[in-house]
Amino acid sequence: MKETILGVDVCPLTYEELTERILADIAAARKSFIVAINPEKIMKAQEDLELRTLLNRATYQIPDGIGVILASKLKKGKIRKRVTGIDMMLTLCEMAAKHNKKIFLYGAKPGIAEEAKSKLEDVYPGINIVGTLDGYEKDEQRIIDTINNSDADIIFVAKGSPAQENWIVDHMETLRPNIYQGVGGSFDVLSGRLKRAPAGFQKLGMEWFYRLLKEPWRIQRQMALPKFLLRVMKGS
Ligand code: UDP
Repeated sequence: MKETILGVDVCPLTYEELTERILADIAAARKSFIVAINPEKIMKAQEDLELRTLLNRATYQIPDGIGVILASKLKKGKIRKRVTGIDMMLTLCEMAAKHNKKIFLYGAKPGIAEEAKSKLEDVYPGINIVGTLDGYEKDEQRIIDTINNSDADIIFVAKGSPAQENWIVDHMETLRPNIYQGVGGSFDVLSGRLKRAPAGFQKLGMEWFYRLLKEPWRIQRQMALPKFLLRVMKGS
């Protein structure tokens, strides 16, 4: 059963439960779509009803961000652990290496997806990344053919939000892969262009604070959190 936070669905499943479901989706040739939910997206979806519909169309909305956990607590929900976009992606990579599923990386600046591919190959021996494509390719037919010819089961789409989610909804029914996940800037992180917070920050749920120190201009975006929690408390 999904929880609904200010009109946006969130899945209470853990990495393990999601991985099991996704394996079952592939086995049954079911299409599924994973989207990361954070307070920023929920707040945007208050005014932007198209975005709300888009987020709610996903098969699995993962609770990415400490704000979603706090909101679930406030609403006496059950979600207690974050499932971040990048860790979900890495969990699926590990699963794919183990179960021989094929992966495609689509998005980011030219060259970045290839760098992310070789990083993933170092970390997950046996992983089968069957193709990559940058997120600035304009030739729609070339995009479709490259993805379909790769015969991938899982595609990670790193084009930023909500562009990647729109792209997924527009293409998932007709393209070959079964599993679609929007992963934002994850290829940049994997390629080493952007650093993730040290493990200590991550464990404390303070990754946002680390990002703020590194990229202070994000303050505007992060100020949304207290506003978001107030709104959840008021329940509207
Ligand atoms: N990007 C892309 N095609 C575009 C615009 C952006 O592939 O037309 C990529 C960009 O290079 C970056 C990612 O999308 O790798 C966006 O990352 P960001 O961290 O801004 O995404 P967020 O998760 O914050 O939406």
